[in-house]
Amino acid sequence: MDHIVPGFVALGLANRAARDSPSTVGGELIGQTPTELSQDVSEPETYPTMPKRKRDTEGDVSSIQPQIPSDPIIDALHSFIQQERKRDFHFLAEYSHKYKYQKELLVVSKADLTEAKAIHKPSLETWDVWYTFTEPLRSDGFSRTVAIEIPPAANPTVANTTITELGRKGYKTIRPAADWIRNTYSSPNDMWCMQFTDQQYEEQRLWWSNTGQSFRLLDLPSEMREAIYLQILGRIAVPDIVDSQTQPIDKKLVIGFGHSYDKARRIGANRDPDIDHPDLTIMRTSSRVRAEVTTVAHRDTTKRFTALRPREKRMNPKTCPADLFSRAPSLSPDPTFLRHVQLEMTAKLYFLSIRILPRPGKPFASATAGFPTVMPLETLKQFTGLQTLDFRFISPKHEDAKCPWSTTAALHSCQKTWIHWYFLFAWPRLKAVQDFHANLPTPHTLKFTLSGCVKSATRRYWEYTLNDKRVDHTKTIRAMETKLRHRATKMDIKDMVKCACENPCAPMGGKRLFQCSEYEVRRIEGLQEEMDKYYWDFEDEAEE
Ligand SMILES: [Zn+2]
Ligand SMILES: [Zn+2]
Repeated sequence: MDHIVPGFVALGLANRAARDSPSTVGGELIGQTPTELSQDVSEPETYPTMPKRKRDTEGDVSSIQPQIPSDPIIDALHSFIQQERKRDFHFLAEYSHKYKYQKELLVVSKADLTEAKAIHKPSLETWDVWYTFTEPLRSDGFSRTVAIEIPPAANPTVANTTITELGRKGYKTIRPAADWIRNTYSSPNDMWCMQFTDQQYEEQRLWWSNTGQSFRLLDLPSEMREAIYLQILGRIAVPDIVDSQTQPIDKKLVIGFGHSYDKARRIGANRDPDIDHPDLTIMRTSSRVRAEVTTVAHRDTTKRFTALRPREKRMNPKTCPADLFSRAPSLSPDPTFLRHVQLEMTAKLYFLSIRILPRPGKPFASATAGFPTVMPLETLKQFTGLQTLDFRFISPKHEDAKCPWSTTAALHSCQKTWIHWYFLFAWPRLKAVQDFHANLPTPHTLKFTLSGCVKSATRRYWEYTLNDKRVDHTKTIRAMETKLRHRATKMDIKDMVKCACENPCAPMGGKRLFQCSEYEVRRIEGLQEEMDKYYWDFEDEAEE
């Protein structure tokens, strides 16, 4: 995902979660203001409470709170902590977002002086105001004792406060209080409790409902609204053709209902993820939002045309890939609908898209004239609004992966090798499509990108070469293609496509390397990364 401030992500996620469990959103968790919260915090050991009778006489409900002669700097810090928990999603995020109050999360109190002495004897004279930051939810009882200073005659606000922390060897850090608190208790990288999508949704939902944060969507600038809509809808849409509701004989192209490869629990779910059904709940907000979301759905989502139709048909397009691809241009609901297009095919079908169909002894043979092609690249000339074309690749370890030169599912050519070859052979067709778009009545540059399970080096090379406007690489590419065809007449194709990658591309003879429970994956640090790397590794150290 691109970088969008967490709040926006949160909105999208919270929205999705809201759809799943409407009864638990909002409600009793919202409503308390930070001031009420910070007043709740009392320090009975340190401060005497006011006599009960006095409070009773005051009558006014708002003043029934215990009137403690509190330490103004503690109050200021507590209120800062509460606000920070609202402002920064990652602040104290190692605790579940179901804990919402400062007093549950981080409490400041006057330090026990013997403790302070134990920490750093010689310097004790220099600072006379010692405080302890305690995290009540910490099981190990760890706390931090620091010196807090306010310049004489300054107001006891957080902005006027510095915190001095003494290190073990006499080092000391002096920082403005706000900096120190943020630096010590906010951990944007510490997402350990949120490795899984479901948990992320839940945490985000808790945060939004607990902090009571809200903003008027339509007050935001339109480009921010559009970023939010795209985030909620999902960047990738898998279009489908459906019957028009007004005239059943008519068909129309819609943004579709998502795409699932196969079993939800599978190795590779992070590398070749399912595409969720686009979330359209936000459309119910108002007719203006509906119109804006429709525009974004048409214009800004990337339309994936996938040749994969896995066995488990949980949410896949009903229309077959070939029909969908050939009819999409004529059925587009909007001229911008096919602006960003993504293709996804097996290696075998990618080669067929440029009419290469290997025969024994002829690894790069052309398909016979009538041979059906699922998504021929020439069709892209009919996608007149096309601006970016993305080639998406699945891992050779994907259950539906198919190699052009292998008859057994367990064997697959090296992903690095075949993708390179594919672009060598596809070059003239891609350049023709690019030229065609550059010479349309509304000329524009068609940009090619690569994504999915492709080596980073391969992606960089081809994205650069295909889109380079200053240099025409056709000669170089031609020479490479000729050399390759020549080499194929002398060598066995099986040897040419053999994988030498550090993490081998092809499946390892059917044996499953990882058989771990979800619990183990969650508990063992780095295991998920290893599994993902095994399924597809973007880097290849064996390269040079
Ligand atoms: Zn175009
Ligand atoms: Zn390889």
